[in-house]
Amino acid sequence: GRAARMSIQLCAYGAGQKLMLTRDVTAAEQAEAMRRDFVANVSHEIRTPLTVLAGFVETLQTLPLEAQEQSRYLALMAQQAQRMQRVVEGLLALSRLEASPPPGLAQWLPVAPLLERCEQEATALAAVMGRQHVLRFPRFSAPEDAGEIAGGAAELHSALSNLVGNAVRYTPADGSIEVQWAWQPDGDAVFSVRDTGPGIEAEHLPRVTERFYRVDRSRSRDTGGTGLGLAIVKHVVQRHGAQLVVESTPGKGSNFSIRFPALRLRRAGSC
Ligand code: ADP
Repeated sequence: GRAARMSIQLCAYGAGQKLMLTRDVTAAEQAEAMRRDFVANVSHEIRTPLTVLAGFVETLQTLPLEAQEQSRYLALMAQQAQRMQRVVEGLLALSRLEASPPPGLAQWLPVAPLLERCEQEATALAAVMGRQHVLRFPRFSAPEDAGEIAGGAAELHSALSNLVGNAVRYTPADGSIEVQWAWQPDGDAVFSVRDTGPGIEAEHLPRVTERFYRVDRSRSRDTGGTGLGLAIVKHVVQRHGAQLVVESTPGKGSNFSIRFPALRLRRAGSC
């Protein structure tokens, strides 16, 4: 907060040599503050499940428990371990994205199987969560009609499936989710996931792609969330020169969409 205000004051004075230097320091301070926040967040996200896990270990070591009780504790411990695993995997995914150059135009991926895989995963996730959403996915008369996209296979899959997964996780059992793949007149194509979930208040919208930012911490955690999904989506979208748009009406639902540029797309019959 303080650093941002400082740079506004400097602008009012005009840009002299000295002021430029001060402004650089301000940017460095800001970067350092962000890094500190990030390290604090990571520590917290790992420490919480670790504390719970250590508590259970101690209980098992000190209390004589019956076999049934014991396996209940072990299941809870496995849950905490999985939670830590998801956080670490998410962080590794983010650092891989940051460390590698953006995917070029060499690898063309058919879109239909990408969407199919997302559909299978969404159906499986909904089943595990005991939800019976109405799940609609696009159908093509021929798979080639969906076209192809140039990019990284694994990261594109993770971006699309994160959005679909979020819709499943945040939409109540009687809700519906609609996934679309729509070609635009200018040759762009839009992947979108519309849900009838809780929606996101306007004040939170600009922050949902920040690492570890959650609107509702317990709802995120209860459904296996790490707060890293949308940060990963944002990175992947940027690396593909695409655009992420989030529209949401609290109480009604959300629409997350990714607009891919024509440059990275081709349809059957064109080259
Ligand atoms: P998480 O693992 O917590 O889901 P994400 O980075 O995927 O983390 O999303 C960040 C936050 O944005 C979530 O905690 C949730 O509050 C909100 N959010 C994401 N997708 C949706 C959605 N489809 N409907 C409502 N809220 C959502």
